[in-house]
Amino acid sequence: MTARIVRPAIRKVTVLGHPVLRKVLRKLRPEEIRSEEMHRLIEEMAVTMDEYDGVGIAGNQVGEDLSVFVMGLPKGNKRHPDGINLTVVFNPVIKPVGDEFEEDWEGCLSVPELRGMVRRHKKLELSGSGLDGKPFKKIYEGFPARVVQHETDHLNGLVYLDRMDGLKTLAYMSEMGRRG
Ligand SMILES: [Zn+2]
Repeated sequence: MTARIVRPAIRKVTVLGHPVLRKVLRKLRPEEIRSEEMHRLIEEMAVTMDEYDGVGIAGNQVGEDLSVFVMGLPKGNKRHPDGINLTVVFNPVIKPVGDEFEEDWEGCLSVPELRGMVRRHKKLELSGSGLDGKPFKKIYEGFPARVVQHETDHLNGLVYLDRMDGLKTLAYMSEMGRRG
């Protein structure tokens, strides 16, 4: 018998213009969440996120009409030294906590090369299901809360451009880098 190691495939990331990015994605049942196929997809999403240097990736960004996102950032990142634990969330729902907002730059694997300033809730409660299909709630604040909002938007057919207060801060990363 020959042992065969199947590595998770790196998926092609959908970019703006692909209709799946504008869909409200399908919610998943616990038995679907627990399936082997789903766990294979999650591995593929995670390796794709790494390959593209993303902090989060949503189901429709790999072409799937499925309400799920993966997020994660290793500790020691220059801008966000605390990083974000690798997290998988199915059927996420967000409830803002308090009425504070924060503005910061966002980019998106589906809107390559660009950055824009987006106002987001500073703190929120995330409800969803984990890999075991069981529901959970968790409070997020600051940068991880921003990522949760960005990814949950994807699952509702929205991208960060829809959340900008106008497009005047929209900029090419290459140009931003040149100007420090
Ligand atoms: Zn995005």
